Amino acid sequence: MTAQILVVDDIPANIKLLEAKLASEYYDVLTAKDGFEALKVAKEHKPDLILLDVMMPGMDGFETCKKLKEDGELSHIPVVMVTALSEKSDRLKGLEAGADDFLTKPINDMALFARVKSLVRIKTLLDELRLREKTGMEMGVETGEGNVFTSDVSGARVLLVEDDNVQGKQIVERLGKTYAIEWLEDPNPEGVLAKATEGDFDAILISTLLSGVDGLRLASQIKSHEKTRAVPILVFVDEDDQRIMLKALEMGINDYLTVPVDKNELTARLRTQVRRKRFQEALKSNYQKSISMAITDGLTGLYNRHYLNTHLGNMVTQALKNKKPLAIMIMDMDHFKQVNDTHGHDAGDMVLKRLAELIIHAMRSTDLAARFGGEEFVMLMPETDPQAAVGAGNRMRDIVEKADFKINAAGETIKKTISIGIASLHPDGDSPENLLKRADEALYAAKHSGRNQVKVAAGNVPKGW
Ligand code: GH3
Ligand code: MG
Ligand code: MG
Repeated sequence: MTAQILVVDDIPANIKLLEAKLASEYYDVLTAKDGFEALKVAKEHKPDLILLDVMMPGMDGFETCKKLKEDGELSHIPVVMVTALSEKSDRLKGLEAGADDFLTKPINDMALFARVKSLVRIKTLLDELRLREKTGMEMGVETGEGNVFTSDVSGARVLLVEDDNVQGKQIVERLGKTYAIEWLEDPNPEGVLAKATEGDFDAILISTLLSGVDGLRLASQIKSHEKTRAVPILVFVDEDDQRIMLKALEMGINDYLTVPVDKNELTARLRTQVRRKRFQEALKSNYQKSISMAITDGLTGLYNRHYLNTHLGNMVTQALKNKKPLAIMIMDMDHFKQVNDTHGHDAGDMVLKRLAELIIHAMRSTDLAARFGGEEFVMLMPETDPQAAVGAGNRMRDIVEKADFKINAAGETIKKTISIGIASLHPDGDSPENLLKRADEALYAAKHSGRNQVKVAAGNVPKGW
């Protein structure tokens, strides 16, 4: 996935440096030499992220940020303020201007890539939410999820694991105004794990400097627990301990802060993580459940064919415009008719419902699943390159093959398989109809070469993606 990043700095050497770093991680880089140019470029290209220098002649970074955040078309683009090391007061000013995060000069590569990755991920989720709202509106459906777009995180539940009394008190005091915060002052591993898994938290803060307890190990246990896998975790680390920072990020810990924790930085980072979690939840469940019957399939609760067609049109337009990949997968149950014929229509319905559940469980939050027809399902996968799409297809095929399908109330089960056809959007001109058609042809090929397999449309892999 290539995200587009706008780098704004008045010193050409700074731009060059950042540009080289970001390009080495395959980001697309746009540049601007001052605030005015930044606004112009942002309006024209709608980048996925803006790295904004604070000190610039004419219009400084704060003012530029304020202008970006006031513009309805640009306000959802995350802005990272780049400040000089000593200026902690800048962070407060940056927050007030609506900045999403901070980086200090000289920029540490690890910090840069951690922030960029996390914010780009949020932007992706948000883009998909906005697109779905647009589709819903076009279909005349009230989604009632408008408030999810705001950055209001008040009332979110936060767990703090910190045995440094002074720091703990300060954090509770600061975050307590916005969040419902619970503080474990004297943590033991079992207690923390129990609390984390039972508490339904929106974020967890863990110090890695606890006395007698390995905070990083705790964080990793929480991350790998099924109930808390999606809960963002931020760890506090020693400023000089690069090893722990790297390890934390490798383990999938969402972010880190160095101690003593800067409260403004914490506020910004926490807000970013909580927002991401909320967008993900909105996408994955609430949003889909709250949409009206007009766009969902009665049996499975997935989107119906009508919605799929409308949304696919929007997705294709968007992907072509932003030069981003889009993949589609059509799944069809093998010999489904036999289920009806052997066990009755109700058993057939149960099998279809279960297949829909398996699909919902397996897909990412930005994917969109729809029931396309009788026992045919479609998954749209934005920002997914052809290789990743095949990976997703193989995973899906495998999940279905291993699953048991209930066919009656007594709990009797049968085994089923699916065949899958995959196609990817061609960057230089493509249409929803062609994309669907290619996926359907691939599905046909999968059926004809023996079923229970994944086939990719002929000539699928677009160059350069
Ligand atoms: P193949 O492996 O080639 O895909 O064979 P198949 O039997 O799965 O496919 P076919 O298209 O021949 O049959 C699909 C069947 O699905 C026919 C139709 O009666 C049944 N069907 C369609 N919608 C529903 C539904 O909502 N509930 C039930 N129980 N059956 C359905
Ligand atoms: Mg079938
Ligand atoms: Mg069929």
